Amino acid sequence: YEAKSRNDAVAVYAPEADHNSAARLGLLGDLRRTLERPDRPDLGELGVFYQPQVAVDSGEVVGVEALLRWRHPEHGMVGPEEVIRAVEHTAVMRLLTYRVIDEVVGQVAAWRADGVRLRAAINVSVRDLHTSDLVEHLSAQLARHDVTPDQIELEITEGALMADPRRVLATLRQLDRLGVALSLDDFGTGYSSMLHLRRLPLSEVKIDRSFVLGMGSDDDDAAIVRSIIELAGALGLRVVAEGVEDERTWRRLSTLGCQVAQGWFYARPMPAAELTNWLARYRPPRALRGALAQGAA
Ligand code: C2E
Ligand code: MG
Ligand code: MG
Ligand code: MG
Repeated sequence: YEAKSRNDAVAVYAPEADHNSAARLGLLGDLRRTLERPDRPDLGELGVFYQPQVAVDSGEVVGVEALLRWRHPEHGMVGPEEVIRAVEHTAVMRLLTYRVIDEVVGQVAAWRADGVRLRAAINVSVRDLHTSDLVEHLSAQLARHDVTPDQIELEITEGALMADPRRVLATLRQLDRLGVALSLDDFGTGYSSMLHLRRLPLSEVKIDRSFVLGMGSDDDDAAIVRSIIELAGALGLRVVAEGVEDERTWRRLSTLGCQVAQGWFYARPMPAAELTNWLARYRPPRALRGALAQGAA
């Protein structure tokens, strides 16, 4: 993985002149085949990796984020951002999102059967929010696996609101009524972030990892992280920092009052079976245990 520069994050919202490039059209057809033929792994394999989200102060695992992985038959692993860019203006997007939802809800039910209660966050794309199909599909899957809505969270980005704010808002309200928590992802990279915090039925914001990665070396990034934590606190929103790669960052987040963190310092995204093993072995990072012991003394 490479640290994403802030420019990459912003580029998502730039007008995309090239979304019909040959490479994307190629990927699109290949992905469609992968989706249609799960019985043919030689045509590519779709999967979901899970990354733990950890309470900053106790080290307790509070949930996982589901992250899409696609193994292309020739190109190997293709990153989710590239996959999403290739399909998000097409009808394939919905199929892909449904595949992820089905897999994640099924996995949450499987963990529960093993006595592990985990909330899973699923990333959804702009286009997914343009109809209420998403709500119907999700509630059907929840019912099918007997999973309660509070075990699922959806992560949306601000870009979602740019295209068709009224329809998106209507979908978000339906999801909220269903009892699914909504998280605003990549916070700080989009437009008019403040406005969205007021208008949307959110319960969480995620500080974009570009700021978290930079906060150790860049005063501006550190100031942005601090302000987002304060703002979220004032609005009663849970705040999650992603991209926490080292102990120093974790310590600073703890001092700033950030509630939840996610990043390589704790664990990388991994397949479900690996996460199950990881959870069984997990103890809060040594540094964190030391700090907790000091706090208790
Ligand atoms: P995101 O939702 O902001 O996800 C967090 C990204 O940060 C993930 O990248 C994760 O692997 C990475 N990450 C986690 N901890 C660290 C760390 O400590 N350091 C660094 N440098 N990176 C870290 P990933 O898995 O490549 O996903 C990239 C983006 O693709 C996601 O960003 C999300 O916007 C999108 N995405 C992933 N899965 C899905 C999906 O199922 N549906 C949709 N619509 N989008 C998805
Ligand atoms: Mg996310
Ligand atoms: Mg993010
Ligand atoms: Mg992102």
